Amino acid sequence: MSISLPQKEKRMHKILVIEDERVIKMNLLKLLSAEGFQTISADDGISGLKLAQAELPDLIICDILMPNLDGYGVLKALQQNPVTATIPFIFLTAKAERSDWRQAMTLGADDYLTKPFTRAELLDAIASRLHKQEFLSQRHSIELQQVEAQLNYLLHYDRLTNLPNRLLLQERFTQLVNPKEGQPRQIPILSLGLEQLKRINNALGPTSGDLLVQAVADRLQRTVRQQDTVAQLSGDQFVILLARTNQRLEVAQVAKTILDAFSNPFLVNDHEIFLSGARIGIAFFGRDGCDLDTLIKHASAAMEDAKKSGTNPYQFYIASIGAKSQEALLLELELRQALEREEFQLYYQPKVNLRTGEIKGAEALVRWHHPHRDSVSPTEFIPLAEKTGFIVPLGEWVLRTACIQAKVWQMAGFCPLRIAVNLSGHQFNQPHLSRLIFEVLQETGLDPRYLELEITESALMQNPESAIATLHELKQLGIVISIDDFGTGYSSLSYLKQFPFDILKIDRSFVCQLAQDTKNAAITTAILQLAHTLNLKVVAEGVETQEELDFLYGHQCDEVQGYWFSPPLSAQDFEELLKGGKRPPLFSS
Ligand code: C2E
Ligand code: CA
Ligand code: CA
Repeated sequence: MSISLPQKEKRMHKILVIEDERVIKMNLLKLLSAEGFQTISADDGISGLKLAQAELPDLIICDILMPNLDGYGVLKALQQNPVTATIPFIFLTAKAERSDWRQAMTLGADDYLTKPFTRAELLDAIASRLHKQEFLSQRHSIELQQVEAQLNYLLHYDRLTNLPNRLLLQERFTQLVNPKEGQPRQIPILSLGLEQLKRINNALGPTSGDLLVQAVADRLQRTVRQQDTVAQLSGDQFVILLARTNQRLEVAQVAKTILDAFSNPFLVNDHEIFLSGARIGIAFFGRDGCDLDTLIKHASAAMEDAKKSGTNPYQFYIASIGAKSQEALLLELELRQALEREEFQLYYQPKVNLRTGEIKGAEALVRWHHPHRDSVSPTEFIPLAEKTGFIVPLGEWVLRTACIQAKVWQMAGFCPLRIAVNLSGHQFNQPHLSRLIFEVLQETGLDPRYLELEITESALMQNPESAIATLHELKQLGIVISIDDFGTGYSSLSYLKQFPFDILKIDRSFVCQLAQDTKNAAITTAILQLAHTLNLKVVAEGVETQEELDFLYGHQCDEVQGYWFSPPLSAQDFEELLKGGKRPPLFSS
């Protein structure tokens, strides 16, 4: 008896037939079309394989004895790639020995039909394979949703207190300052300092200490309204975003209510604990700053002031000098001249394949040799360059220099490396970005597949629609795209799936202390799982220790970058590294 699929379902399935005997192939195609399947076909193994990779059919029916590449070869090649490995595969052949059947099954075929076969046998085999595949893909998508939900939670909340963390605070802040209707209002941000919390926490020991922090969080949550956000930035740093209030008097009232709440003791394991000395500093969006970092800095400065004064337990931020400091102005000026004066240099940090230990790529990181200061960190001057627009000429210099260097190493006979260049938000959102990159590749003669662009989630989210279009343009050029600092930018995971990127870089804050920090271990594991189901390669950044490495190795991470193998190096030192053929001391376990 043959199982028949409902008509509607059948039409959606695409079946690839690989068969060199013309008559058999034509008959098969006719039969399948009559059953409502969409069909494609090939006459030999090689073209069949290519077609399978390009079209990703729902099922493959394949002959064994064929010119060029036999059916076993086709199946073996398909198994190499996780995308094609899951396509149901049915062998169709005149060979009927038991050993042939065994070989087919060992290779991972799903079924085996011997010629001549009946129509019913064929349809039966197809139907049961498609049913199973449907079931698997449903289960797969449920699993994916679960991993996503878990990761979303881990990335946005403190696991001990369940309070929103820095990332979620940023998301809520962004929503408030970009209202769907009307103008943004002044929004108060409160920084709460609990001077004794850390000390008492240490004295109590970890278990009771955790209970105290939980009790504090709980009480804080209860003092504010539902629309407000109490976020925990570190063990003893809390920030409160008030969504509904913006009058000074009202805000002062909220601050008082919070402080009052701390005048009652906390009960931890039958001990009464008093947390006196709570202080609050307040800054307003619009008046005291426009981005969250600045506002938190200012609110915290006001809180420190409240601590010092000793009279007022809460204080509003007072801007002492509104204008930029002389020093900042000077730095801006010097930055503009630095390019002409050739004060920039690129350093290169190797990315190592975790399976083979080979150096597969290098990230280009810019250094500024300031004439009077020690070298200025990119974390200081890149944001400045972003703000002033200087990042555009600087970024172009970085891109060109890195491509030239990669080409020079290739011509010197080293194994070709993927050279990765960072693109900041401003750069990424420049018009004609792909044209610039195309021109640089032409000029330098670097094959596009050896250029990787590292882009952060936040840069992509500045204008997601155009980001998707730009990424597609870049991918058309054949460039590798990676998403940098993954997990730290505010973006929705489901949205990210729409961006066509190849590599995901786990931010180093999650790699830190992987073996000891259970939260980081959970985040990294979930990211790796998610990335692999989405067929992305994963690079872990900031790998410093053998324990971190062992963890990543055990969880199928693809590449690592970090001090464990090498810090960023000058081009000359990097070349020495390549010459020396340094291999990492893989692996302790
Ligand atoms: P990033 O893209 O996340 O780069 C990785 C940073 O981590 C580098 O800092 C690198 O030196 C550091 N790092 C590498 N291994 C380890 C490790 O094992 N432990 C620790 N703790 N750190 C490690 P660097 O060079 O100071 O660069 C900082 C940031 O500046 C970069 O972060 C990137 O966002 C930006 N940047 C650097 N060069 C460029 C550039 O040419 N263009 C743009 N747009 N941004 C750049
Ligand atoms: Ca990077
Ligand atoms: Ca990074």
